[in-house]
Amino acid sequence: SSIPKIVILGAGYGGVLTSLRLQKELNYNEADVTLVNKHDYHYITTHLHMPAAGTDNPENARVNISKLIDEFKIDFVKSTVVQIRPQDRKVILEDGTLSYDYLIVGLGGEPETFGIPGLGEHAMNIRSINSVRLIREHIEYQFARFKREPHRTDFLTFIVGGAGFTGIEFIGELADRIPELCKQFDVDTSLVKIINIEAAPTALPGFDPELVEYAMQVLQKKGVTFRIGTAIKECTPDGVVVGEGEEIKSQTVIWTGGVRGNRLIEEAGFETMRGRVKVDEFLRAPGHENIYILGDNSLVFNPEGRPYPPTAQMAMQQGVNCAHNLVASIRNQPLKTYTYVSKGTVASLGKGEAIGVAFGKKYKGRLAAWLKKAIDLRYLFIIGGIPLVLRKGKFL
Ligand code: FAD
Repeated sequence: SSIPKIVILGAGYGGVLTSLRLQKELNYNEADVTLVNKHDYHYITTHLHMPAAGTDNPENARVNISKLIDEFKIDFVKSTVVQIRPQDRKVILEDGTLSYDYLIVGLGGEPETFGIPGLGEHAMNIRSINSVRLIREHIEYQFARFKREPHRTDFLTFIVGGAGFTGIEFIGELADRIPELCKQFDVDTSLVKIINIEAAPTALPGFDPELVEYAMQVLQKKGVTFRIGTAIKECTPDGVVVGEGEEIKSQTVIWTGGVRGNRLIEEAGFETMRGRVKVDEFLRAPGHENIYILGDNSLVFNPEGRPYPPTAQMAMQQGVNCAHNLVASIRNQPLKTYTYVSKGTVASLGKGEAIGVAFGKKYKGRLAAWLKKAIDLRYLFIIGGIPLVLRKGKFL
């Protein structure tokens, strides 16, 4: 047919927002839209630190895609993308092939290990429902193991690599969970160690220093030990090696120290930096007028020429902009430039505690925690309206 085919890869923040906007803005029979995702659910990545630590159920961090999109307007295909072939305008799935006129790539990130030996093999990552289920069970299992081998206190040492957003939010939850686990397994809390190791000279680089100080105090009070300015040199089955060769024994290393773009992007032949495509002002891959790259797969520069850290906030805005440009392309109208507009950032530090900057002001403690909740509820509202807020919102 002559109807343009739009294929969206990944139902993360970028892919879902693009889909939702397209189904609203496109007229009947104006385009064929297909959304491809590995799972039949969308996961709320910004909430994954909770089920990872076990302070919430993984169920509350996911939504069925059928509840989000209108399947009369968008075809949903549950499959894994194995190859993108821009030269043939095709996408190879594990179980078939799709051809497209317009392609939107929102496949999300992958852990960046910076070549640190052993991290890929021995550390766990907070990235999907499946990975956080594993972390949660693994942590509980260490308590059970310790009860059988009480001399192995290394079972009770939990190492988090990276003090960025994800690392800090996870530590906040883990520190809340430990007393519960100690009670459940009859373990003395003083035996448990949570160690956060960060190579940069500060935790939460880029965040307001006064708020970072506050965050560290809150977490230290909950029992967290910080090793800031300390690089992980190696990860082994027995723990990590840091600094000048000091070994910290542990059976649990959670790596949150870096994110890169999905490897499929490099493999497709796009020019990348850390697996990400430096997109043009309309969010297209350079040299490909029909390919849009979103979220953790894209690289957007600020006016000073430095890349913005990829966030859910940015992926959502990009999704809206991308849908607008797709509709404009189909209708032969001018495209809209994408500019990142920061609505503020809030990092949670566990129950009732957070830090954040929003509306040009700093927030900490309960008020910041409340703001975090408001942001999460707003997201549920944007993607699923009032019904989703009522179904999932009460758990946040
Ligand atoms: P994602 O949301 O990662 O989605 C990618 C989708 O693609 C997934 O559904 C995945 O299953 C699918 N997929 C991947 N590979 C394939 C394949 N081969 N075939 C088919 N489907 C595939 N950002 C904020 O702005 N605020 C926060 O508070 C915040 N907190 C965070 C807390 C944690 C614990 C983490 C891990 C991240 C946080 N972030 C936050 C960052 C944010 O989650 C990411 O920037 C955002 O998810 C990127 O969105 P995306 O659309 O690019 O990809």
